[in-house]
Amino acid sequence: MPIPRKVIVIGSGPAGYTAAIYAARANLSPLMFIGTQWGGQLMLTTMVENYPGFVDGIMGPELMEIFRKQAERFDTEIIGEDVTAVDLSRRPFRVTAAGQTYEALSVIIATGASSKLLGLESEKKLMGRGVSTCATCDGFFFKDKNIMVVGGGDSAMEEALYLARLGRKVEVVHRRDTLRASKIMQERGFKNPKIEFIWNSTVEDVLDVSKGVVTGVRLRNLKTGGVTERLVDGLFIAIGHQPNTQLFKGQLELLPNEYIKVVPGTTQTSVPGVFAAGDVQDHTYRQAVTAAGTGCMAALEAERYLEAHA
Ligand code: NAP
Repeated sequence: MPIPRKVIVIGSGPAGYTAAIYAARANLSPLMFIGTQWGGQLMLTTMVENYPGFVDGIMGPELMEIFRKQAERFDTEIIGEDVTAVDLSRRPFRVTAAGQTYEALSVIIATGASSKLLGLESEKKLMGRGVSTCATCDGFFFKDKNIMVVGGGDSAMEEALYLARLGRKVEVVHRRDTLRASKIMQERGFKNPKIEFIWNSTVEDVLDVSKGVVTGVRLRNLKTGGVTERLVDGLFIAIGHQPNTQLFKGQLELLPNEYIKVVPGTTQTSVPGVFAAGDVQDHTYRQAVTAAGTGCMAALEAERYLEAHA
């Protein structure tokens, strides 16, 4: 096996790329696994207006392209494969992708988080046939159609606002009677004439599996127990995210909500030499800029760790 790498970075959102940029500039020659679907959640978004440095905003995929070019400029070695296994039980650590195993003296995990689903059988069966978790990917298919969005956070508002530009009508179904979304996003949602809200309700079933396409939903009102059916052509699930920690279960300490546990104020995981950055360890802020910030922290902490354990 070739000599172990100083740093392997797993994941390619703002946290992964920032970690690679800092590690590369510190002469740590990082090897980065960006996955077969690189770029993380910003690849699935439209205009990013709150990432500092872009006065007029920037499209999510364009921002990630810039991150990638900057990491490549400093000679980060990039592999476009998904990591399938890790062994963090001994040093050098082992990372396997596409059937090949690589060794590293330190690992930075930046695998992010993925969209949560409602857990209905019909939702699974109709995924890609009217059910979606990404308005910017699939909204185009619902031009002038009736659309429903599930959720009450910023993601739900963002999806609803985007879809309102395309659809005939957008109904937002939320399980409570107040939104979790930030005030500015709430105001935009309430002001939009195409968006309507259905409060205190959950989706009980997605129709119609027998037709192989979404024709409507069955809703339950949690206050009255009443069940109603509504005709919709598209159902967008925007109820938050699940951290991508499957690979690390049993090897790193996780929080009860399955995010990676780090020493507060650092990116240090329960295994010395393994660092976690971005949404995979952040269930509070989950912003591109905080992910980038912790990516920087992880690279600096890996550098210090390697100096101390040369
Ligand atoms: P979130 O803030 O956790 O909101 C999830 C929403 O889905 C909540 O309203 C929650 O209801 C609801 N929900 C969760 N599980 C559900 C279930 N099984 N059935 C029905 N409803 C369910 O997640 P998010 O909206 O993805 O936002 C995550 C973070 O990213 C936040 O910090 C947010 O500010 C940020 N973000 C920002 C922007 C932006 O600024 N443009 C855009 C997207 C995301 P409850 O309210 O009852 O818990």
